[in-house]
Amino acid sequence: MSDLKHLHHWDVLALACIDGRFIKRTVDWISEKTGGTFDFRTEVGCTKAILDCPNDCQRFFNVIETSLRLHSVKEVWLIDHIDCGAYGGSKEHEDAESEKEFHIEKLNKAAKIINGKFPELKVKKIYVGWNSIEEI
Ligand SMILES: [Zn+2]
Repeated sequence: MSDLKHLHHWDVLALACIDGRFIKRTVDWISEKTGGTFDFRTEVGCTKAILDCPNDCQRFFNVIETSLRLHSVKEVWLIDHIDCGAYGGSKEHEDAESEKEFHIEKLNKAAKIINGKFPELKVKKIYVGWNSIEEI
């Protein structure tokens, strides 16, 4: 742990939704994938913040800029989840499969926006279901 004092650069900034049902499992998953060091930020709806909410989007952008400047991150991980209240929840979709398709479309659009503004960053798209977490 004392090594952390001297560690200033790592690869990943993860952007997720605020929904408390998914935080621990998502953070555990990212921790396992990254070896435990990453930046993490939430805004309501994750991709919804980027696509539909200019103020939330600007906060995400500010965090991306700071992560780049202070920690030299190389990747942004965009993380949407099932039953996201910001999008009206699962009830807005016919079934889990169509809900996932909806989020894949949002993740693709949000990734394009981030890539347009930060072309040096690789954007990974991740979807959290009730029992799974997968890279899209
Ligand atoms: Zn949500």
